[in-house]
Amino acid sequence: RIAYVNGQYLPHSDASVHIEDRGYQFADGVYEVVPVMSGKLVDEARHLDRLERSLSELQMDMPMSRRALQLVCDSVIERNYLTNGFVYMQVTRGVAPRDHKFPKGIKPAIVITAKQTKPQSTAVLEDGVAVKTVPDIRWRRRDIKSISLLPNCMAKQAAVEEGAFEAWMVEEDGTVTEGSSTNAWIVTKDGILVTRTADHDILNGITRMGLLEVAAEAGVQFEERPFTLEEAYEAREAFLTSSTNHVTPITRIDDRSVANGKPGSVTMKLREAYLDRIARE
Ligand code: PLP
Repeated sequence: RIAYVNGQYLPHSDASVHIEDRGYQFADGVYEVVPVMSGKLVDEARHLDRLERSLSELQMDMPMSRRALQLVCDSVIERNYLTNGFVYMQVTRGVAPRDHKFPKGIKPAIVITAKQTKPQSTAVLEDGVAVKTVPDIRWRRRDIKSISLLPNCMAKQAAVEEGAFEAWMVEEDGTVTEGSSTNAWIVTKDGILVTRTADHDILNGITRMGLLEVAAEAGVQFEERPFTLEEAYEAREAFLTSSTNHVTPITRIDDRSVANGKPGSVTMKLREAYLDRIARE
């Protein structure tokens, strides 16, 4: 495997960044995971827009022009013979003696890697997955795609320890925010598709944005609003979205089945339409 690090293409095992990089010391950086289908980046413009926004919220500039970034991504895809999988991009503030305030005039560190993934298993599509709920203990700027992911890792670990595929994080007011690395969706008892409003409480997923467009085109009625865990327990369907999981049906939330415990029809219809959309691009 080949990685891009600060201007160089290196064998994955030789690629490294400095021990005083602020990403390492303060998680002072941001990232993107861009899906790759048939060797092409999916929704590239939206991912670069989000990267630029995350950086600007932290008073950082894009490390290179968009065009250059696209060329490096294409080169990483090619050098890794990647067909289906994802590109990981990480930009950290750079190397400086450890001090909390943002140092001036340092160069950001940029790392770009690629990974091939297997197609989603048929079991996941036939049976759906389980989620476990945990309290959302994160900071209040979850819209920034920061590399500071310890609460997300803890949530996912707690889920996996109970045999669940993903964690759903729940606010003190009883509303579900999102998964540890996915957005959360339900289809209510009344057949309305619901996902949380994209404000500072969640990361606005690129898959989420694409799926809302697909839902509108398919004439599926939807609402962007917080929903409670109680509402999710009573829902007709539930699913999760992300760049690596696309649209994945959820059939169990904690110890309860979602409806009859089978992937929902709206979920599977939207999944098909979404996959068509990204294949057409
Ligand atoms: N929410 C969180 C916390 C995430 O980390 C991610 C993706 O990594 C998502 C949602 C889904 O975003 P996307 O669809 O852009 O992959």
